[in-house]
Amino acid sequence: MKIQEADAKSLLAAQGLPVPPWAVARTPAEARAAAERFLAHGAGRVVIKAQVLVGGRGKAGGVKLAGSPAEAEEVAGRILGMEIKGIPVRKVLVGPAAVIVKEFYLGAILDRASRRIVLMASAEGGVEIEEVAKATPEAIHRVEAHPLLGLLDWQARELAFAVGLAGPHLRDFVKIAKGLVATMRANDADLVEVNPLAIIRESGPEGHVERLACLDAKVTLDDSALPRHPDLEKLRDLDEEDPADAEARHYDISFIHLDGSIGCMVNGAGLAMTTMDLVNRAGGAPANFLDIGGGAKADRVSAAMRLILADPKVRAILVNIFGGITRGDEVARGLIDARARQEREVPMVVRIVGTNAEEAARLLREAAFETAATLDEAAAKAVAAAGQATGGAA
Ligand code: GDP
Ligand code: MN
Repeated sequence: MKIQEADAKSLLAAQGLPVPPWAVARTPAEARAAAERFLAHGAGRVVIKAQVLVGGRGKAGGVKLAGSPAEAEEVAGRILGMEIKGIPVRKVLVGPAAVIVKEFYLGAILDRASRRIVLMASAEGGVEIEEVAKATPEAIHRVEAHPLLGLLDWQARELAFAVGLAGPHLRDFVKIAKGLVATMRANDADLVEVNPLAIIRESGPEGHVERLACLDAKVTLDDSALPRHPDLEKLRDLDEEDPADAEARHYDISFIHLDGSIGCMVNGAGLAMTTMDLVNRAGGAPANFLDIGGGAKADRVSAAMRLILADPKVRAILVNIFGGITRGDEVARGLIDARARQEREVPMVVRIVGTNAEEAARLLREAAFETAATLDEAAAKAVAAAGQATGGAA
């Protein structure tokens, strides 16, 4: 689950990391009021940032500075009217603008290959790390945190030296690097990224001071671990959630959108993967991964059908059910019910074996469904039907 920058910053702040203060505004007037407060408390300018769950907001014009409340209102109005990568901006973060001396990249990921939290740092801050990885992979430095000992100070110091940090910033960097690992562990995140981590200049009573601050934050939470963190569930941004994902979650359906034209409805993750492989082998491409889970009732089958048909690329549907706890006749009833209500007619091939398969076969026969005895046959029929449907439409 992706969360907004403002929420990611709260998680970092909770681990004691240096994050500048901020407010979230949904209207230009709210942005103006927030700007007034920060400017009255000594900020020279404020920064206004689109809160959308995509990167590269700066490049897209979604990060701007303003020098007065009136300007903040005007800039916020412009950003709130934007779409970034197709997503309408519904809220902005407002905070005191930092005076940046230098930007760095610092990120922690859960590396499945080494099965450890890996910290990555680069002196090329502010640039998307994927671009750095492509152009100059040697500019990214990595260390692995030990599963039991965590990230050790010397490891963090090595990372700091590698990106050219020394002197007074060294201690802060070690704290921040360890804080990223702590944020990962405390929230079961699979990504915690600070880009830029910046040396900022502040003027105090004794002149200028420079220190490190986390100016941006990106956190991705492990969906499978969310039940362990009921408090994090409220950070889900319903503004930006794909309605299909919300519906799938509501009905306990595992659903992943893919690029092909064969909609797949299967029970069990392993069987769903196998079904997708066989669709490929039959010369087609699956439009989705969909596991209706064990013991699915008619309403869940109907919901799965709606999810599949909501994808305009779908030209045929392959239903593959291996009845165990799931009863074949329940699925057949769900399919019949769903077809009676669906808005779009798409060829469908159904294979149901196992529990109550005979009853399912009878129901499907009476409702004139296309059925198949084996999975190979079902896949071949679905791929052929999709081909014809495409030809007809072209
Ligand atoms: P992203 O483009 O979505 O990653 O958004 P960021 O929050 O990283 O902002 C993009 C860029 O805007 C940063 O790399 C900075 O150069 C600049 N920026 C962000 N916050 C500030 C700030 O407080 N002060 C100044 N001067 N620049 C900022
Ligand atoms: Mn950034």
